[in-house]
Amino acid sequence: MNEIIPPKDTAPEKIRCDACPVMCYIAEGRAGACDRYANHQGNLVRLDPLTVLQNSGHKLVPFLADTAHDDWDGDIIKGARTFVTAVGAGTTYPDYKPAPFIVSQEVDGVDMITVVTEGIFSYCGVKVKIDTDRHIGHECDPVYAAGEHVGHVTTSEYGSKMLSLGGVEHLTGGSKSEGRVTCDTLLRLCNREAVELVIGKDGHQTTVIVQAGKAPIINGAPEKLMRVGCGSATIGMFAKQWLGHTDDVVVVDDHITGVLSEHEAGKQLNVAPTGIKLLGRRSTPGRYFQVAKPGTGWGGTDIDDPLRIIGPFNAKVARPGLRLFMVSTTGEQSAYYELDDDLTPQLRSTPAVLQKSADLIAENCEPSVCSVLFMGGAGGSLRAGVTENPVRLTKSVKDALTHVSSGGAKSYIWPGGGITFMVDVLDMPTGSFGYVPTPALVAPIEFTLRRHDYQALGGHMSEIRPVEDTALQDLRRLTLNPDQHDPLEAAHFRWSRRSKS
Ligand code: SF4
Repeated sequence: MNEIIPPKDTAPEKIRCDACPVMCYIAEGRAGACDRYANHQGNLVRLDPLTVLQNSGHKLVPFLADTAHDDWDGDIIKGARTFVTAVGAGTTYPDYKPAPFIVSQEVDGVDMITVVTEGIFSYCGVKVKIDTDRHIGHECDPVYAAGEHVGHVTTSEYGSKMLSLGGVEHLTGGSKSEGRVTCDTLLRLCNREAVELVIGKDGHQTTVIVQAGKAPIINGAPEKLMRVGCGSATIGMFAKQWLGHTDDVVVVDDHITGVLSEHEAGKQLNVAPTGIKLLGRRSTPGRYFQVAKPGTGWGGTDIDDPLRIIGPFNAKVARPGLRLFMVSTTGEQSAYYELDDDLTPQLRSTPAVLQKSADLIAENCEPSVCSVLFMGGAGGSLRAGVTENPVRLTKSVKDALTHVSSGGAKSYIWPGGGITFMVDVLDMPTGSFGYVPTPALVAPIEFTLRRHDYQALGGHMSEIRPVEDTALQDLRRLTLNPDQHDPLEAAHFRWSRRSKS
């Protein structure tokens, strides 16, 4: 990131940027501290083009494919519906100023307004979902980037580990360096770059490289598969595959390890008891917690030898020659044993039919990916840029009269107070995010509603311009895929639902 240019030098060739609280003085031919604005022959210019999405009338096109600038003939309407995103729109400061673009257009006979701004988010962060069974850290463990504390491990989800990164406490509540590194980490993750994170405290650290839409790399090893289910679910799903080919099956899992002969699935399929003894805490029949410590071994445990989770077989039930198949929740690890005369499992080569069942488990696993969801709260500057009465905007969003999108992408609005939204960065145009060195993240946000609803909430009516006027801007045009979210679709609004009923 650039150094903040101190607002001391008022030499005539410098101009002042008033797009954020930093208020840079920018010399001719130079960019401001955020690299978003520059002094071009005495004019303050936004360096990135304004991004518009064009609904081409259900023509099949690559997902959000960039259209070369040169192909653009300046006709923004061209018979197709155009949505002006906030990517490249710029920011306004202080709060009372209207948003940079407030555009109108008729959509299926309805006069619609879209208020477009790049919001400056101090209250923001990312939620990262990492599809893996491997242990990357305990809940609440700190997450570091470039040696700075940028977030923590949060509650695991089914087959995935979760991180919560950023937030106001790391952006502004710690040291200057912590804030700068947190902002840079969020920016890179949101712009789909790879970021190396270190999770946990000294002596118990895991290194994870995270990139939206890509497999995580955990301690140098790229993760391949997301488990098909927990050990118990795997027993339930594949129990029939094993009948007649082995006497018992253990599916090793850090969460719930499953045992076929004790599991309800085994009972219903008349699998006889085998005298097996699992170490760990028994939950319900055939389901065991805490068979080992979490780690990067079999099924997200710390073991590479599955026999470590088995105690002595019950001599009253077990017999020499009894067959045991052990497999992990992704099917990537498996082993086949037969009991010797002392009832001790001896490793044997895996019969082809059992190897096939491990392959079937692997086949049913989805590819492991990292998902990055930006989450932010629309504060004063954003809402005041839309209306002089900001709470009315919040109510309008809750009443489904105003639709919120981010770079044109679908956003999830949290219930309760404020406008706290979440969006998948992969649904957004590339390069959607920027930063200001306060530090805070810059993210696009658009509010779309009917003209008379906009008037009713105290909108900046005199600032409305026809969408055609945006053709005067430097534009980046993207084509809306028919399967993609269309922010202008009537179905988003309560009034369209009423008219149907
Ligand atoms: S940091 Fe960027 S937006 Fe803020 S004043 Fe400087 S150039 Fe303008």
